[in-house]
Amino acid sequence: MSVEKKPENAPASNFIRAIVEHDLADHKFANKKWAGSPGDAAHHKAGQVDHAKIRTRFPPEPNGYLHIGHAKSIFLNFGLARDYEGVCHLRFDDTNPEKESQEYVDSISDAVHWLGFNWKNGNEENLYFASDYFDFMYRAAECLIENGHAYVDSQTADEMRTNRGTLTEPGKDSPWRNRSVAENLTLFREMRDGKHPDGSLILRAKIDMASPNINLRDPAIYRVRRAHHHNTGDKWCIYPMYTFAHPIEDALEQITHSICTLEFEDQRPFYDWLLERLAEAGLLAHPLPHQYEFARLNLTYVVLSKRKLIQLVEEKHVSGWDDPRLPTLAGARRRGYTAEGFKLFTDRIGVSKADSWIEYTILEDCMREVLNQSAERRIAVLDPIKLVIDNYPEGQTEDCFAPNHPLKPELGKRVVPLSRELWIEREDFEVEPPKGFFRLTPGGMVRLRYGYVVQCTGFEKDANGNVITVHCDYLPDTKSGTPGSDSVKVKGNIHWVSAPHAYAAEIRMYDRLFKEANPGSGDKDFLDDINPNSASVITAQLEPSLKDAKPEDRFQFERHGYFVADKKDSVAGKPKFNRTVTLRDAWQK
Ligand code: ATP
Ligand code: MG
Repeated sequence: MSVEKKPENAPASNFIRAIVEHDLADHKFANKKWAGSPGDAAHHKAGQVDHAKIRTRFPPEPNGYLHIGHAKSIFLNFGLARDYEGVCHLRFDDTNPEKESQEYVDSISDAVHWLGFNWKNGNEENLYFASDYFDFMYRAAECLIENGHAYVDSQTADEMRTNRGTLTEPGKDSPWRNRSVAENLTLFREMRDGKHPDGSLILRAKIDMASPNINLRDPAIYRVRRAHHHNTGDKWCIYPMYTFAHPIEDALEQITHSICTLEFEDQRPFYDWLLERLAEAGLLAHPLPHQYEFARLNLTYVVLSKRKLIQLVEEKHVSGWDDPRLPTLAGARRRGYTAEGFKLFTDRIGVSKADSWIEYTILEDCMREVLNQSAERRIAVLDPIKLVIDNYPEGQTEDCFAPNHPLKPELGKRVVPLSRELWIEREDFEVEPPKGFFRLTPGGMVRLRYGYVVQCTGFEKDANGNVITVHCDYLPDTKSGTPGSDSVKVKGNIHWVSAPHAYAAEIRMYDRLFKEANPGSGDKDFLDDINPNSASVITAQLEPSLKDAKPEDRFQFERHGYFVADKKDSVAGKPKFNRTVTLRDAWQK
């Protein structure tokens, strides 16, 4: 296959990229016109040759927040436009009056921006609402009626279902299938004018009730539905069906490659049938868009279905759409996941036509990889007990120097204060150490990271027998970074925070929301698979510099994992942190 232009730094090729490259090599869209805004054939005919070599679109329905599955579609559609001198439209597919709202519109725009994409192109905004095309869709429906390609059916929903046939049996023609054009037009206009109750009449395409593809057995294209629409208010009481609306939206926007998930594969013949009928009637401009299908993302340990996500939010199993445990992009962002991590993930999993399940750990590994490069290191004691250096002068403080990033010396070092009383991790001290334990034990020696070697001289327990304080002496000539500091060899190295300087912070220790890889598999309710221990809140002792963390600043807390200053609950000088991901996969099956 000939390739006109291989984009630089593009993700690995996939079958859709191959199709685009082939089409470009064939100059398939070389004469395609674009009038600067969506419209019918006449509108585009008056326009210029399209400056965009291809047009793709991301068409979410604004009936919920975007999830990680949508990220795959966003990277695919916006990525193609970026790599092949094209344009990607953000189109709100808001033809269904119920369940759509401005909050969802705003959150979707935010998420696409956050992933690094923009629908603006020069003077063109390329932000569209499918409901703006209702007038055209109505006109298209009348055009089909006039040309004998659509009829108003008076069958009940039950009759329609019975007469549709099955996979092995053809359907039966509706008794209303041969109504005259005049009668169909009159009835359809009455539907529009509110003269018929909801569900009483339906407009159907007239194709073939015996087609082996059930989607071609006179599919419904317009229904009566009295519902308020967030954009068009009460102007309409009839609404187009998705399968009728979507191809028209693509054509009005002069989309070249209309990319959707595999479940729409059987709809493609109707997609093509509809656009060809409208083009031959002169309503739509050539070249017509083509639909291509790819496998949707299925990810273990989460649910990627808006219906289930809405249920989790509305029934308050989570704190909201941006709960950091949710696989929404708003939740992932609050959790500390990065757009770069999602890019790496979508590149790594690729695009194919075969449905499969992706392990959640692959996503976590991508986040770790990106954060390992980008996140500065800080010190945090998550489960603190006191360490008192008895031979260190009371009231004295001295500076220790900790590198901000081990892989990036250019990021320099920061000062961490050391004093007589420190916080250390409970698990870094053992009264009766198991074999191979190299941290602090009675009489043992350990290095305080970036500080001195200390030797344990004793410990105190509370009434319950829990160690609350460890005592030690420090070896003055062993300070890290000073000559001869390594004259005393120790095997262990523990982190610490100076107690009088520490910032006691709230940390949310998030874990997976579901305890099963496939929530709700078998006959179970997916809610029964919720992990009851997916969130806990602790108070940790952090190095003082973390007080200045800004919302969404991300860090590696040494030895613990990656954490982010919460974008919602942090106040200046008092950030709260969310655990993004542990350093290594700690999930026990
Ligand atoms: P859901 O099934 O969760 O309700 P949806 O398909 O109804 O999602 P839309 O708002 O219609 O959600 O989706 C917008 C675009 O995102 C569509 O083009 C759809 O193909 C794509 N998309 C949705 N879910 C996934 C997924 N899991 N993987 C890849 N693409 C997806
Ligand atoms: Mg959908």
